[in-house]
Amino acid sequence: MSLIQRVPARYLWPVLLLLGLCFGSILGLILVTTSAQDRLEAVRETRTLEAALATSVSMVEHDLQDYAKWDDAVRHISYDFSAAWIDDNITAYLGKTQNYDHVFVIGPDGGTRYAFSNGNRSSSKLAEILGPSIQTAMAKVRAMDDRGTPIVSGFAREKRQVFVYSVAAVVPLTNKVSAPAGERHLLVIAERFDASHLANIRAKHHLPALALNLARPAPSSAALVLRDMDGNQIASVEIAFETPGTQFRREVIPGFAAIMVVAVIAALFILRQGGQSIAALTASQAKTQHLANHDPLTELPNRRVLLGRLNEAIATGNHFVLLYMDLDGFKGVNDLYGHGAGDALLREVASRLAAAAPAHSLIARTGGDEFAILCQLDVDGPGCSLAERIIASFQTTVPVAGANILIGISVGVVTSSSDALVDIDELMRRADVAMYNAKARGKNRWSDFTLELDEEHLVRKRLEQDLRIAIAENRIELAYQPIVLAESGAIVGLEALARWTHPTEGPIPPDVFIPLAEMTGLIGSLGGQVLRRACIDIKPLGIDLSVNLSPAQFWDAHLADQISAILADTGFPADRLELEITESYLLGRPQAAAAIMADLRTLGIRLALDDFGTGFASIGYLQSFKFDRLKIDKLFVKEAMGCASGRDLLVAIVALAQALGLRITAEGVETEDQAVLARAAGCHWLQGWLFGRPMPLSQLLQESSLRRETQKR
Ligand code: C2E
Ligand code: CA
Ligand code: CA
Repeated sequence: MSLIQRVPARYLWPVLLLLGLCFGSILGLILVTTSAQDRLEAVRETRTLEAALATSVSMVEHDLQDYAKWDDAVRHISYDFSAAWIDDNITAYLGKTQNYDHVFVIGPDGGTRYAFSNGNRSSSKLAEILGPSIQTAMAKVRAMDDRGTPIVSGFAREKRQVFVYSVAAVVPLTNKVSAPAGERHLLVIAERFDASHLANIRAKHHLPALALNLARPAPSSAALVLRDMDGNQIASVEIAFETPGTQFRREVIPGFAAIMVVAVIAALFILRQGGQSIAALTASQAKTQHLANHDPLTELPNRRVLLGRLNEAIATGNHFVLLYMDLDGFKGVNDLYGHGAGDALLREVASRLAAAAPAHSLIARTGGDEFAILCQLDVDGPGCSLAERIIASFQTTVPVAGANILIGISVGVVTSSSDALVDIDELMRRADVAMYNAKARGKNRWSDFTLELDEEHLVRKRLEQDLRIAIAENRIELAYQPIVLAESGAIVGLEALARWTHPTEGPIPPDVFIPLAEMTGLIGSLGGQVLRRACIDIKPLGIDLSVNLSPAQFWDAHLADQISAILADTGFPADRLELEITESYLLGRPQAAAAIMADLRTLGIRLALDDFGTGFASIGYLQSFKFDRLKIDKLFVKEAMGCASGRDLLVAIVALAQALGLRITAEGVETEDQAVLARAAGCHWLQGWLFGRPMPLSQLLQESSLRRETQKR
């Protein structure tokens, strides 16, 4: 039963039906042929018995006829009746040798003239022995012509005995004796027809068991009826028909049933195996399907599913919003905390998106740190409110790998268009443009697509391409700006600043190409080139070098290795190198940032906090990060000139930095007044146009005292 239960029903019944049909037909065929065989056998046996009975009768007739049609018999019976002659010439053979039970001679008047019964002469009457039908037989014989052989044979019954008998008229064989006038004498012989008679027949004709049944009418159809001369049924011979068909059936059917059972079990077994394979196949198909459509890490549908849904939405004309998102600074998390942490972060992102998105929207992971949400336009107001909700949901830190990470997300928003030209590729492109714009505008914000944006985007893409080429061809140049001692104005160091002159657009400001390099992953090689060149350039001058570091560089796990390799290659002393970093990108992950800073310090280099005052740095924050130097942003220097409060602020900042043991540089010093103020406030070093604009090294060497100093060295 359990075998059946484990077979899938839709296969079970057809197969069982088929098997049933096959076995049923075979069985039917066996039944039909074997019963036909039985029937044929019965017919054959019946015919054989009929013939055998006829032979029995004709044998009696044959025995009698020579004695009846015989000249001597006419002489000794019809003319000169002699019982002794009959004894010697007829009964001696028929009664004693052939063992007929009865021999009678009947006179023309019908009276019994001679009787021999059961081995002896007797006084029995013919009718008492053979019953009334013998009269009919005798009448028939009397009616027959002498020229033939007037003889009649058959079966007769008296009481419970059946006989086979023959009656013949005693007539001359030749014309040596003339036929007696009037009625003739009749000669009758009879033999008991009983079981032993039947046994002989059976043996001679290879028949099955036969039995004489005296019941009238015959009890069964399987019997051959015996009739007397009057046509009355006197007995029947029952045949125990042989049934070769039935016998065959009996022998074959158990084996056949066994085969049937085995076949059914085998079929069920095969079906079960098949069912299991099918189930396994279906499961693996479903799994493959799932894998093909889902991101294994977040379990979110993948890009393929998103494109399918977008296609559907476009085809059905439903209005929808597509949000295309990219994490800000994800690569840094991966580099810093390892891929396990990166994976955990992505999973958390997936769940935050799911929490922010309206029900029934599709959330997909379309790439490494890229996600998308597709939802109906009327579900939750315009796409921008959803975008805002998503950005808000990333304002709390994510606990990953024992740290609290603040990750940003930039969102591009596209709404479905009635413009027939907007196909799926164009939609995806627009979403990408909008997202890119959000990144370019400072990240962790959203932007929706407009056609103007598209133009900006094109320009930016072209510029990006050109920048890539410029970096590859090493065409980024350096300008150096002097940093001087506040007291004496002597140059103590130079800040290296990247310069790019576009072949057709002319000089591109670093505020444009540095963020572009950062967004496109070019900053690593650009920063490396700048540092290497600056080390080579400045090494012979024996003064300090300041180089700017961008956020993407800062979070690159290979930064320390890269810097120490450059220092080793160029032979630049580490203690003369100062790296400038801005505070904005340290805020999100203070612990990680502190770890990186500690790493860099072990190389022996110094760290400066650039553009101080423009970000959100708090006092506690300054304390925990252990910078060597604070560079006060040029805005403060400018402000300090305008009003007393500005001046007080500058003084307070310097005092604070001094209290924290930090050295201070004032940036953007353009006038002598500003220099005086900064000096008075307590700044150690000054930097600005007053002391020199950023310029090529050659120019700097010509204009400043540096050349002399170099020559002295
Ligand atoms: P920053 O690090 O604050 O660099 C100082 C900027 O102030 C320079 O602008 C410089 O020309 C300008 N400057 C210097 N003195 C004065 C002054 O007296 N008055 C005024 N108004 N401006 C002054 P620049 O060269 O356009 O660089 C802009 C920014 O681009 C830099 O700001 C720095 O953040 C970034 N940058 C430049 N080169 C590199 C680089 O090689 N790597 C990285 N990561 N960033 C760079
Ligand atoms: Ca700087
Ligand atoms: Ca600065």
